[in-house]
Amino acid sequence: MISSSPPQIKFADLTHADAHIPVAIIGGGACGLSCALHLSDLGVECAVFERDTLAQGSTALSSGFIPAVNTRLQKSMGIADSVELFAQDIQKKSSYESDPALAVAYAQAVGKALDALESLHGFEWILLDQFLYSGHSTHRMHAVPEKTGQSLMAKLTGAVERREIPLINEALVKDLWVQDKSIKGFSLLRPNGSVETYSCDALILCCNGYGGNPELVKQYLPQVKDAVFAGHQGNDGSAVLWGRQLGAQLADLGGYQGHGSWASPHGILITWAVMLEGGVQLNSLGQRFHNETKGYSEAAVEVLSQPGGVAWCVFDEIIKTFGDGFPDFVSAEKNGVIKKSNNLSELAKVLGCSEHTLSTQLSGLSTVAPDATGRQFKRKLEAPYYSIKVTGALFHTQGGLGIDTHARVMHSSGVPFSNLWAAGGAARGVSGNHVAGYLSGNGLLSAFAGGYIAANSAAAFLKSSISGPKNC
Ligand SMILES: Cc1cc2nc3c(=O)[nH]c(=O)nc-3n(C[C@H](O)[C@H](O)[C@H](O)COP(=O)(O)OP(=O)(O)OC[C@H]3O[C@@H](n4cnc5c(N)ncnc54)[C@H](O)[C@@H]3O)c2cc1C
Repeated sequence: MISSSPPQIKFADLTHADAHIPVAIIGGGACGLSCALHLSDLGVECAVFERDTLAQGSTALSSGFIPAVNTRLQKSMGIADSVELFAQDIQKKSSYESDPALAVAYAQAVGKALDALESLHGFEWILLDQFLYSGHSTHRMHAVPEKTGQSLMAKLTGAVERREIPLINEALVKDLWVQDKSIKGFSLLRPNGSVETYSCDALILCCNGYGGNPELVKQYLPQVKDAVFAGHQGNDGSAVLWGRQLGAQLADLGGYQGHGSWASPHGILITWAVMLEGGVQLNSLGQRFHNETKGYSEAAVEVLSQPGGVAWCVFDEIIKTFGDGFPDFVSAEKNGVIKKSNNLSELAKVLGCSEHTLSTQLSGLSTVAPDATGRQFKRKLEAPYYSIKVTGALFHTQGGLGIDTHARVMHSSGVPFSNLWAAGGAARGVSGNHVAGYLSGNGLLSAFAGGYIAANSAAAFLKSSISGPKNC
């Protein structure tokens, strides 16, 4: 029996605890598990508390693509890149709305985080250099060789097991015990209704955002309140709800990752590489309606504003062959999501639009100069055509607890809480306050960079053993 009562703050000391954990991490996605591994590398004892029977989170649903600079792999491939260039790309995509110091801190940390997982935990990374993701100046997208979030999670949980870090599943953290703005511990609910309490010296929130909380989505993201939420249902907004009661800063709550290529009704992600390689999106009237190369996140809103809230991704044989390199695309193919049309007449029937409109749109793809949307094509599409019906989806929220560059949660008075950190989707991201601010990979960037920074900061805090500078 899981209680539906919202997460609470108990403003009191924890007089009795079932156990003590030096550093407790709430949430066992990429952020929580990578943070636990870095803490273990630093010799700090920690445990991860995860609400599900099996730690998966949104990470397992993701494609698992992580942008990172200065990794051993990127350098070995001779790719010229820098922290400054990456931070600049982040800032540019967010229309300079994201916190510049945080963008630099994340750009600095993420390469170190991936290298540590490689050298200390045997991770193998590949770099996706077949095409450039929108908004990135150079090739920096990393992934595990299988190119899925599921494999990424399997590798993280495997590494956590090898280090014998307690990963306590079926542990829904409900209440935080806080006295004098210092975290004393927390209580959690087991599926059978029993409650356990833990005291801790430091608490790191890695429980992602509020995409799975319809009330919060309605309040902060009215644009996508009726959209499909493609992330993990456990992203229930615990961090924001605790933060509100704590008087913590909340930032960028209007930021989120949308996606304009979510196969409908099958619910499979169609890689945006299909668009970047020359594919187009057409609505049910057979008309293009935006510049598809701008970014998949803002495309969600564009697609949702079309008749019926749907569109068709249309591409040809060359692009289909390219798409076959992506596991999600192959899965879509196996599930009969991709429709083949030998000519415009057949394609018009699939879309339910006039063949004339379709012909005008596809023959009008401009290869000589940018068109009215600002897009210039390398070539026109050729028969046979392929199409996939898609809708716009909400993938995850990018706003959250206000943090400093050490991932310490900030009180609204402007000083950090002494022993509370937030990372990954629980904290504000670096996408600013709107959907178009999301640069590809900002989600896992926050998870890996934030997890690494929080681990280092919490370890330093423990080592200075609370006798260091006092904050709140
Ligand atoms: C279809 C899809 C594709 C995506 N592809 C990419 C991509 O390629 N690259 C990219 O950068 N981003 C991508 N994202 C976004 C990315 O998945 C997230 O940004 C990232 O996984 C966040 O990691 P996290 O560890 O913060 O959260 P999660 O992986 O969601 O982990 C949080 C965990 O906390 C647990 N939890 C929550 N509340 C509590 C509580 N109160 N008590 C205990 N446990 C709790 C949850 O059960 C969950 O397991 C994608 C998202 C989707 C939906």
